[in-house]
Amino acid sequence: MKKVLTYYLKPYYGRMTLGFFIKFLGTVMDLFLPWILAYIIDSVIPLGDRGMIYFYGLVMVVCSIGAFAMNVIANRMASAVSRDATRTIRHDLYARIMHLSAAQTDEVTKPSLISRLTTDTYNINNMLGRVQRLGVRAPILTIGGILITLTLDPVLTLILIATLPFIVYITVHISKVSIPLYLRVQDASDKLVRLVREDAAGIRVIKALSKTDVERARFDEVSREVIQTEKKASGMMARVGPLTGLILNSAQVAVIVAGAARVAMGQCEVGRILAFMTYFTIILNAVVNISKMFVVFSRAAASADRVMAIIDMPVEMRALPQAQTRACEEAPAIAFDHVTFRYGKSGEATLTDIDFTLERGQTLGILGDTGSGKSTLIRLLMRFYDPDEGTVRLFGQDVRTMDNETLRARFGVTFQSDTLFEDSIAENIRLGRPFTDEEVMQAARDAQAYSFVVGDKQGFASALNVRGNNLSGGQKQRVMIARALCGHPDILILDDSSSALDYRTDAKLRAALREHYEKTTKVLVAQRISSVAHADLILVLSGGRILARGTHEELLASCELYQELYASQMGGLAQ
Ligand code: ADP
Repeated sequence: MKKVLTYYLKPYYGRMTLGFFIKFLGTVMDLFLPWILAYIIDSVIPLGDRGMIYFYGLVMVVCSIGAFAMNVIANRMASAVSRDATRTIRHDLYARIMHLSAAQTDEVTKPSLISRLTTDTYNINNMLGRVQRLGVRAPILTIGGILITLTLDPVLTLILIATLPFIVYITVHISKVSIPLYLRVQDASDKLVRLVREDAAGIRVIKALSKTDVERARFDEVSREVIQTEKKASGMMARVGPLTGLILNSAQVAVIVAGAARVAMGQCEVGRILAFMTYFTIILNAVVNISKMFVVFSRAAASADRVMAIIDMPVEMRALPQAQTRACEEAPAIAFDHVTFRYGKSGEATLTDIDFTLERGQTLGILGDTGSGKSTLIRLLMRFYDPDEGTVRLFGQDVRTMDNETLRARFGVTFQSDTLFEDSIAENIRLGRPFTDEEVMQAARDAQAYSFVVGDKQGFASALNVRGNNLSGGQKQRVMIARALCGHPDILILDDSSSALDYRTDAKLRAALREHYEKTTKVLVAQRISSVAHADLILVLSGGRILARGTHEELLASCELYQELYASQMGGLAQ
């Protein structure tokens, strides 16, 4: 929270001071209204001078309008400041999220990042607005109100003052207890968002396997957790209002009883008692507002901590100083040098002793069961993670010494969980990179996407739905392959991309790769032998280790698993 106040609000200190000043004037005017009323009743009316009565009446009207106008202006300024400051916070948070390392994203989880970017920044915005709107007004109303009531009737004011410590104790104590509760509410709703996202993404399979009841039960459980933590937190906060109300109302009764006695004894006038009661209400409202401000503040403090925890995360995966390694034309395109890697820093290694080289323009095939570490190998190659042991080199240079932009610009890639965006087909292929229309079309041709794209009336300008849901699985895959091919990258990675393609299209794609992407080094991750049979080097992965390596012929001759796979897949093909 400190950073929000001292860093993000700093540029607005000037505007805030002006806003506070306007608010101050408006509040002071508000504060004097009951006092003028008391003066009219007790001092002006008894004189019977109509002119004076009208004059003070007019003063009251001017004060009311002035107070209203100034409050509106100050509130608008406050909203502008909180909106602008929150925008900067959200912007910084977004930029930081985009540059988190894959390990950091794993640690925080995506739904939590989303709720930090949405709910938490909203809470901060809400707090900044409210504190500016009430932070000056409520204390002035409370303190100024007490000062004026002191001039009206010091004895009655004592009753009022005696009640305030109780109210302050209640608000401060309860908000202290509530901060950790709100943190738990936020964590629970992160979990809920995670589940909803998962279910929404997998709604078809959930329905197809009649798992709706199971999912509903899972949802109910998480939802109950949210409700229970929220209930605890809001139950705690809900005590503030009634408790302060109870105390203030009791005090008000005491004031009325004591006030009536004092009027009867001739120690005080009726107008003063009337004004006193009005101040009492004003002070009551102000104190309740201060307590509400504590609620908003405690929520926002928890949110600010969650947001700043991300913004202040250390930058990982920086490029190391270029020691001995530099990119060099003759070096192999890809070299894994005894690489071992584990997700998290404990547990079993996901990849163990991966060691191979691939020359420029060659094709690498990676085969293996699901979970054998194929995608992880790609992630290390693109430096989403750093290996625990060994080195990954690209054109002779340790990938850790390359800055991420330069490194990733050399790749064209489709991942297993890739997605299409709600945009035109051309833009989905181009993805913000400076490729010409001709390059985009060529990529589509090579990816075997051209015919179905131009078959549509709008061709490359056709709009895709969210995630490309208006295309078939195979069509989506082809657009994504076109995206990877676009601009003839140095290294092309197709991670299980041909799985949704029929054999004929897959073969055509392979032919196009051979013909037009001679210089491109290709890495093909596949389940099907036919997709990698032509590769210069095939790695068979099992349990994160290289079980066997060689060309198709070599593996057929030597690797039992490969022979089995071949027999089953070729059998399937023949049928
Ligand atoms: P493949 O691509 O061969 O199916 P992966 O490389 O995706 O296999 O996964 C290899 C193993 O690493 C699996 O056991 C998987 O559960 C684990 N794994 C993958 N990604 C992560 C991650 N982000 N955090 C922790 N474990 C992971």
